[in-house]
Amino acid sequence: MQNKIVVYTGPMFSGKTTALLGAYERATIAHKKVLAFKPKLDNRFGDNVIKSRKFGEVQAISITNLKDLLKYDVDVYIIDEFQFLEGDINVLLDLVDNKGKTLYVSGLDMTAERKPFGLMPELLSIADSVTKFIAVCHDCDEEKAIYSYYLGKKDTDIVVGNTEYIPLCRSCMKKRLKADKEHEEKFKDR
Ligand code: ADP
Ligand code: MG
Ligand code: ZN
Repeated sequence: MQNKIVVYTGPMFSGKTTALLGAYERATIAHKKVLAFKPKLDNRFGDNVIKSRKFGEVQAISITNLKDLLKYDVDVYIIDEFQFLEGDINVLLDLVDNKGKTLYVSGLDMTAERKPFGLMPELLSIADSVTKFIAVCHDCDEEKAIYSYYLGKKDTDIVVGNTEYIPLCRSCMKKRLKADKEHEEKFKDR
């Protein structure tokens, strides 16, 4: 398990963090030095912990920029919610190619507006392996949700949260967006 970048991506509720915690556990069993990291921005479950909706949690170091990783020398770097981190993607190449480190990284590939999220496209392009998970669609119960739909008001920036988002499949997203548009039209002059 050396010298590689493994990525888990997909919408909210798809199992990214659960997969990441599995990687953390296996690295520990293999007697590797391992540390977990998360963006400062994401404090849903407290500042220094990565928690899966399913089970388990690990202590995590809050960082903002990829270069913060360079302050820690371990065999395996576990990073959750990568889409909220900033910095130069070359930091990861340096860790893996020059220093022989292994990275397990999870993050949302798309914003609620269905746009590529932060540095995720760059991460995906340099990864050794990418697993795209899907969630159960909130509206139709089919296991084909690839979108994270924001339930709140659509006039703010990215909101970090749990209950404000639901996973949707393509056709249910289409219906929601159509309904939103009709709602907007109806209330625009009031
Ligand atoms: P992520 O990090 O991708 O948001 P987690 O790994 O934290 O997801 O949680 C995944 C778990 O969430 C699933 O194993 C399941 O127990 C639960 N879950 C709740 N709602 C859904 C859903 N709509 N689709 C799939 N899993 C869901
Ligand atoms: Mg998660
Ligand atoms: Zn659906």
